[in-house]
Amino acid sequence: MTAIATLGSHCALQVLKGAKDEGLKTMLVCEKKRERLYRRFPFIDELILVDSFVEVLDQNCQNKLEQNNAILIPHGTLIAQMSSEQIESIKIPIFGNKWILRWESDREMKEKLMREAKLPVPNPVASPSEINKPVIVKRQGAAGGKGYFMAASEEDFNKKRSELISDRIISKDETLYIQEYAAGVLAYLQFFYSPIKEELEFFGVDQRHESDIEGLARIPSDLQLKNNKVPSFNVIGNSPLVLRESLLDEVYTMGENFVEAAKRMVSPGMNGPFCIEGVYDENAKFTSFEFSARIVAGTNIYMDGSPYYSLLFNETMSMGKRIAREVKEAEKTNQLEKVTT
Ligand code: AMP
Repeated sequence: MTAIATLGSHCALQVLKGAKDEGLKTMLVCEKKRERLYRRFPFIDELILVDSFVEVLDQNCQNKLEQNNAILIPHGTLIAQMSSEQIESIKIPIFGNKWILRWESDREMKEKLMREAKLPVPNPVASPSEINKPVIVKRQGAAGGKGYFMAASEEDFNKKRSELISDRIISKDETLYIQEYAAGVLAYLQFFYSPIKEELEFFGVDQRHESDIEGLARIPSDLQLKNNKVPSFNVIGNSPLVLRESLLDEVYTMGENFVEAAKRMVSPGMNGPFCIEGVYDENAKFTSFEFSARIVAGTNIYMDGSPYYSLLFNETMSMGKRIAREVKEAEKTNQLEKVTT
């Protein structure tokens, strides 16, 4: 029998609860400092204790997972803490497409895939000297918005960058990515593509709450200036959102275009959960600044099922459970290689 394994962080609880509900064995690669937390949840069958997550690459850990026929569910923590080479070197099967995770981590590759999918992306700004409207400055990889900042000019960029370097939030030789700032209502569109059914499902929408940028909006602008720290976009949590129904058709089209583009650019394509992240402006026009090529933590708000999945399934279906269902279906029909890499 197959087991479902993941790293103890991000959306591990949802993933393993979903797997347990589907009758699969559950395994957690858990940092010792979090053992007490995860032992509280009886649906976790086995904990593999490590000092740090990179130990998932060690032979010992891989062997334990392999002996249980484990499939590893990748999430944001795996991407944030490991290089693409390290992720690609993992021997046990990874749910979805591990090769596309590199495209998520690398800003240039990311933009290329988004353009191929015809997503409306904000313009990149090639160098600080070309900043002539509000921009957001980003780091590589899934940093969760930490160390991101906004700038309005080259001078502003240099000042804020220096501050973040002296506060050791970013390093001196880090390549920063500059992009035009898109204003509007945040919407993170969560999907699941089933390579077994060859069908795209729209799961839900979430909004991220980011400190301190969000808290800043509650401070009158004259006082904002007195707060002389560079505001960051550090994710604190997520909340649910439903869209105007008239927007749904376009949402499916964007998801489908993304799946098609991924099939062309990075075989075997965008299998499993993914997310297209952006904002709707005053004309309900969507601008997309980001994608995640795996489950996002924003799906945690729908552990009991999402509004859109209640339209597709006559049962409670979380994203964690949906993943486990796909694994089970693949196993039953001898197609496990279709849902993993
Ligand atoms: P990301 O790592 O690209 O998801 O960005 C983290 C956060 O920065 C997002 O959740 C948004 O709040 C914000 N953000 C990123 N890119 C843009 C953009 N081009 N315009 C406006 N906000 C952005």
